[in-house]
Amino acid sequence: MIESAHPFVARLPIGEPIPMPADGIPGWSTFPIEGDLRVRPLEPPVLPEPPRDGEDGPGSCRSCLHPERNVIWSDEHWRVTHLRQPSGLPLLLMLRPHGHFDLSDLPAARSAELGPLMQRVERAMLALGGIARVHVNRWGDGDAHLHYWFIARPAGMLQFRGACLAVWDDLLPPAPEQEWRANLAAVAKALAADGGTARL
Ligand SMILES: [Zn+2]
Repeated sequence: MIESAHPFVARLPIGEPIPMPADGIPGWSTFPIEGDLRVRPLEPPVLPEPPRDGEDGPGSCRSCLHPERNVIWSDEHWRVTHLRQPSGLPLLLMLRPHGHFDLSDLPAARSAELGPLMQRVERAMLALGGIARVHVNRWGDGDAHLHYWFIARPAGMLQFRGACLAVWDDLLPPAPEQEWRANLAAVAKALAADGGTARL
């Protein structure tokens, strides 16, 4: 548990106005919001940080307490889940181990499986057709249980390129339920073709 701030934090202009850089993100063609924006003032650090979901172990972890929730595919050690309902982009999925691990304590055997599995998920999503890229993110500020995001960017939508893709997902109208379910089923079937079980 980290109790004191890094010297980097002591140098931050906390509470002070922060000018918008001339070439800042709001000027990017991929930034989804228009208009005059201000940089939000920095708040003082909070240490120790509040616990993430599952920080204290599997007994307080939503992933461990609800292992069947939103699963579209699984094998002995891993599962792929959806996010309960359609969102703005064609498909978002998560890959996580059954075991309660974060990346830093993932057993070596599971780590060795991770690279090939990430390739399989990306290939299965690309096989839907019309998907230019699958972005893979690992944030981990909300849940202590390791989970990777796989986010599909539709081909041709150059405004969705890069790091703003997840924000676009929140802003766009949700995909039709039937189309979303068809995409989930197709990815589950493609994953199961190379092992594990489709759960849809
Ligand atoms: Zn867990």
